[in-house]
Amino acid sequence: MAEFKYPEALEEVIEHLKRLPGIGRRTAERLALAMLKWDGEKIIAFGESLVKLPVVVTFCPECGALAENGEKCLICRDPARDTKLLCVVEDFSQIMSIEKSGFFKGVYHVLGGKLSPLEKRSAEDLNINSLPGRIEELAVREIILALSPDVEGQATAMYIARLLQDKKLEITRLAQGLPAGADISFADAATIAAAFSGRRNI
Ligand SMILES: [Zn+2]
Repeated sequence: MAEFKYPEALEEVIEHLKRLPGIGRRTAERLALAMLKWDGEKIIAFGESLVKLPVVVTFCPECGALAENGEKCLICRDPARDTKLLCVVEDFSQIMSIEKSGFFKGVYHVLGGKLSPLEKRSAEDLNINSLPGRIEELAVREIILALSPDVEGQATAMYIARLLQDKKLEITRLAQGLPAGADISFADAATIAAAFSGRRNI
């Protein structure tokens, strides 16, 4: 007896969905089958927004946050932001949670990860070496390292502290209000606000 298979086009969609974090084969199947029930126009609209994604969504040339069409991000374009305060984050997703807390009024610098000898990620693989230049340009007075409190986050913080040791500025870390290894992306607004107000010099 021939093995039952979904039509090829449906299998393709399932395979794509499986690449998403937390989505296994069964969930991918369920999602793909649910999409089949959408009317044609909705599926086309969904497909078109996916096609647009890599073209329209770009990274801010200043800070590395998400932006549109190669332009600066909304935060770098906002004259009301305090450029003397620079918050260093690992990933652009963390900006969203910090912004939701409404506590921070400075600007950001997105590293795009943290140093990791195990995963062979060195400073050259991250957006670290542009930091000194940005600090000069923006006349930054305080750098806030919003890095995760794990070993790699610590190593990254130490590297940055050493890189900037000759600069006249304060380097602080967020208070350890976040559970060890926790990602700031998932912290609530009150936790983030507390972590910012309790920040310490390193
Ligand atoms: Zn920006």
